[in-house]
Amino acid sequence: MSERRRLREYLQGRAWTLKELAEAMELPLRVVEDHLRHLEKSLKREGLRLTIQPARCRRCGFVFTHGRLTRPGRCPRCRGDWIEPPRVSIEGGKGRQARRPGGGSTDSGGASSST
Ligand SMILES: [Zn+2]
Repeated sequence: MSERRRLREYLQGRAWTLKELAEAMELPLRVVEDHLRHLEKSLKREGLRLTIQPARCRRCGFVFTHGRLTRPGRCPRCRGDWIEPPRVSIEGGKGRQARRPGGGSTDSGGASSST
């Protein structure tokens, strides 16, 4: 199975961060990003879409609308560095479609369990 095909299988399952993908595929981030760019084109031809959920500041909720895949270093609003990285997935695939949780902001700052 080619790398790009494998990448596609992953993305049809759930949303991933670039880093997660790189780790799962054992490839450098740059290579994964390149594959994604090509994948986006071939998906379009099939009526599918590569969706990028933008990065978001977990402290103030600022959304990084520049839509880059790489994780920004710091929030321009609150200067915090607790950034939720962007996630990619495939939308419009056959079978079930994943529902996105939307932009809920229910942070009570209590338990902080991160992996
Ligand atoms: Zn912020």
